[in-house]
Amino acid sequence: ADLFGAERLNSEGTDLSDREVLRALEARVVATAPEDRRAGPLIGGQEAAGAATPVVNPANPDDVVGEVVDATPDQVRVAIERASRAAPAWAALPVEERAACLERAADLLEKEKEAFFALAVREAGKCLPDTVAEVREAVDFCRYYAAQARRLLVTHVLPGPTGECNEMRLSGRGVFACISPWNFPLAIFLGQVTAALVAGNAVIAKPAPQTPLIAARAVRLLHRAGVPGDVLQLLPGGADVGAALVADRRVSGVAFTGSTGAAKRIARSILDDDLRPIAPLVAETGGINAMIVDSTALPEQVVADVIDSAFRSAGQRCSALRLLCLQEDVADGILEMLQGAMAELKLGDPALASTDVGPLIDEAARGRVQGYIDANAARVIASLPTDDAPGGHFVGPTIIRLDTPEELTTEVFGPVLHVVTWKAGELEALVDRINANGYGLTMGLHSRLASAMDIVRARAKVGNLYVNRSTIGAVVGVQPFGGEGLSGTGFKAGGPHYLLRFVTERAISIDT
Ligand code: GLU
Repeated sequence: ADLFGAERLNSEGTDLSDREVLRALEARVVATAPEDRRAGPLIGGQEAAGAATPVVNPANPDDVVGEVVDATPDQVRVAIERASRAAPAWAALPVEERAACLERAADLLEKEKEAFFALAVREAGKCLPDTVAEVREAVDFCRYYAAQARRLLVTHVLPGPTGECNEMRLSGRGVFACISPWNFPLAIFLGQVTAALVAGNAVIAKPAPQTPLIAARAVRLLHRAGVPGDVLQLLPGGADVGAALVADRRVSGVAFTGSTGAAKRIARSILDDDLRPIAPLVAETGGINAMIVDSTALPEQVVADVIDSAFRSAGQRCSALRLLCLQEDVADGILEMLQGAMAELKLGDPALASTDVGPLIDEAARGRVQGYIDANAARVIASLPTDDAPGGHFVGPTIIRLDTPEELTTEVFGPVLHVVTWKAGELEALVDRINANGYGLTMGLHSRLASAMDIVRARAKVGNLYVNRSTIGAVVGVQPFGGEGLSGTGFKAGGPHYLLRFVTERAISIDT
């Protein structure tokens, strides 16, 4: 039984601790050319034609993985029209039928997981263990939201005076736009889409421009699982497609994961139109995430968790560690160990099991992150060369020394870790100073003192606080994920309240 008593199966996963399993998987992924070579607008279950542009492998831009056809403004309008017409019948289905579609999708995902691994490696540059975790998370989202829908989307009978019958019903809001990022091109994509669908909405999904192929495969899979073509449509494209979608009055809700700036633009676009219903925005955005380490922490564990939190996925997670705060007395020792561990990391082809750090998603991202490192060259205390990485958008993991936490004012979305020190007795003040950056996604603490845990637990203004472990890899239904402040609106993905953002509540009172 899950949180609040909802029953579900866990995903079966893949045991990567078995070297034979890992090696065999690596061989298959390296040998697999993705079957899905084209992503175009999927409108009413049909793929629309149009001019295609190549989709390339971030680890090797000469490797063309497939091609994408972006949606036109006309196609955006047609998709919204079809979705609006299809939404009422989908919402009127018994919740069980929609939940069953998600569970069939979960089974299909598990059956076809290696096709998704191959796509996540080649199209998104994700390392093998990350692709395995990604598919597992996607499967868990499907089964978790199915179970939560059965629990939540029932008619609640409410007490009232004798002779009066009161009930409350939760139903889909209409058409939901789901706009998702490239860093979790399957898990976050499907997390948004399946939540909106099972809650009873028709969905128009706009995947990140860098990762349309995996999204197109996921949409087709949901169609095979029983979701009608008009109820789930795909519109590949850039910010213009997203903007046209969210500006349309008939879109009655938006789920968005990406930058804080883009989330605010979406909110303004929804509110600017005086005649439009106030549509909810479910936004999950960035963070300037800190980890606090005191002098009682176990150095070996700190180093392993910092490496994982800051550099895994090349730092391209919104949960990733950006600011490491070391208590002065232990700072030098931990930094030395950290630099030693960093030097052991292997940059390279994400398809290989030996690779620790893959590429950044594209040249623009590489240029931004490398430009930031170059501008701060005087403060770099360690960096890994990219010499042995193949041609691709690689940036070597880098550590930058700062004097104060306040100096870090932007989220650098790559393998860049900033370090500051703090003095004994300053823990409360340190937490407050970190909070003051206005973000509130993840925070880490390494300490063996119950008093330190109490202080951080009571003061940290973050959605996910992790003590004596890494700050990444939230598990569906176990660590419901999402932030506060500049980091997002809530409710948390993979949490028991998420679906409530996708429904409308109606109370009906009948005097008998
Ligand atoms: N849920 C992911 C994690 O816990 C991060 C999601 C994101 O980067 O948007 O690492």
